Amino acid sequence: MNNALFQSDIKSLKLLNRGKVRDIYEVDDQHLLIVTTDRLSAFDVVLPTPVPGKGRVLTAISNFWFDRLKHVIPNQLTGIDPESVVADNEREQVAGRAIVVKKLKPLPIEAIVRGYLAGSGWKEYKAYSSVCGISLPAGLREADRLPEPLFTPSTKAEAGAHDENISYQQAEQLLGTDLAARVRDMCIALYKYAASFALGKGIIIADTKFEFGQDEQGTLYLIDEALTPDSSRFWPADQYQPGSNPPSFDKQYVRDWLEASGWNKHAPGPELPPEVAAITGEKYREALKRLTQSHIEKLLEGFRRFHSDHYEENHALFERLTKQGQSPKTIVVGCCDSRVDPAIVTNSSSGDLFIIRNVANLVPPYEISGNHHGTSAALEFGVCQLEVENIIVLGHARCGGIRALMNQAPGSDHTDGFIDGWMKIARNARNRVLARMQGESAEMQAQACELEAIKVSLDNLLTFPWILERVAQKKLALHGWYFDIERGELLRYNPDSNRFDVFSTSNRHGTSSVPEHESACAGRFPHQNHDGTTSHSTKPSQNDGKVDGYLPKGEGTNESLRDFHGND
Ligand SMILES: [Zn+2]
Repeated sequence: MNNALFQSDIKSLKLLNRGKVRDIYEVDDQHLLIVTTDRLSAFDVVLPTPVPGKGRVLTAISNFWFDRLKHVIPNQLTGIDPESVVADNEREQVAGRAIVVKKLKPLPIEAIVRGYLAGSGWKEYKAYSSVCGISLPAGLREADRLPEPLFTPSTKAEAGAHDENISYQQAEQLLGTDLAARVRDMCIALYKYAASFALGKGIIIADTKFEFGQDEQGTLYLIDEALTPDSSRFWPADQYQPGSNPPSFDKQYVRDWLEASGWNKHAPGPELPPEVAAITGEKYREALKRLTQSHIEKLLEGFRRFHSDHYEENHALFERLTKQGQSPKTIVVGCCDSRVDPAIVTNSSSGDLFIIRNVANLVPPYEISGNHHGTSAALEFGVCQLEVENIIVLGHARCGGIRALMNQAPGSDHTDGFIDGWMKIARNARNRVLARMQGESAEMQAQACELEAIKVSLDNLLTFPWILERVAQKKLALHGWYFDIERGELLRYNPDSNRFDVFSTSNRHGTSSVPEHESACAGRFPHQNHDGTTSHSTKPSQNDGKVDGYLPKGEGTNESLRDFHGND
């Protein structure tokens, strides 16, 4: 990163204006050069300390959005290289931080869109249940998403003054009825598109300010900057919590520091310590990276971190795994679902788990045929070659495979593609649930089927002769686990009670395996008894956190197997 640019000094062009952050030069009667400096303004005062690289980040973010939004609205960009319009010795000042734009007539308003309740909007809502005079439903919390994005225009203040909010009627007086409506509709459309895109990248755009210009034909253009942390509130989606003011990618960090510094918020502002300027620059860069980084780039960066933080630090482990091969103690049969990674959920390390993932974490019954049996082949390798001691069938809440199964037409043998056929493995789970839970909501039925399907897979494991044999010899234990994504709870199947019990994360030593919310859990999951009735468990499990696994009652005889399948 080069040194910070506090102020540009382009002598080859005529300077038209220095804004808080941007210096504007005239290229010719059709074009302007806009240089985004590293100046930082807070509380409407330009601080004496620049943030190195900030201008380049803002330029990159704006250019990114201009390109993304060009199918919705034309913009000011010309594609002319800014380095080509300045003298050779001035190129350094414009590289990466300037744009050459069309000269357009700016509209006399700032077009603000608010999607969430924040800042001055929240203050007004608390006092009057409205934002910029627009009434809103009662009961909203700070940072809550608004029912619909609001268009709340303001005047453009002269330098040093504050913008003032105006009503839509005042905007109509300034722009005319038609243009005001076009600007409003355009703002909402741009905001909705950008907010949805950014959310996919982990950023909430709480609000933003657009500026528009017109050419001589009256065509509307997007001008100035677009959807940057300076013109918007950006919140990290993963830290968003309605009811409190979320952290942000914008100047909030600096604002907090300034508030704490005791500065009276009048010019001149204080110098920023180097570390405060550096952290601020980092926040801007993080916003740019989140928005523009492709997923593959993100993964490659993840590999880089894995390599430096994990691979190199655990070199001895990888050396041992290389030389001695793997010797995992446990097979996990998990769902492909990206939300339920068995290694992450169990905080496991390389070499710990032999993981088989498929749609809905199903184990098919043992069958010899010429077909391709990926799950069975992996089980054979893990059990017979690696000689694992445990097999965990790890189900989970909100499983897409189970939902597909529940939605299949009754008795339908028609299959499109592979999923329907695969899910037939859990057909009995579905039938049992539908038989005993008539009239319950589809959601309750699906949850029950997610649990029931785990039991079907446990049953199917015992149809593999080499699994049955090892289970009977107590060399291998089978476990049914269920991860509730929403509550962050792990439920474990207890074959004695035929119930799923919540594993307590608060008591490592297991003096009581059942926490107080056990009854709540039981309420959510009606459990099937062997006699086919439904029970809601309320009494604590006596297993004290140790489930011995899933063992056939007759210790692995064929009779016991028939018992297990007699339920079907
Ligand atoms: Zn799933």
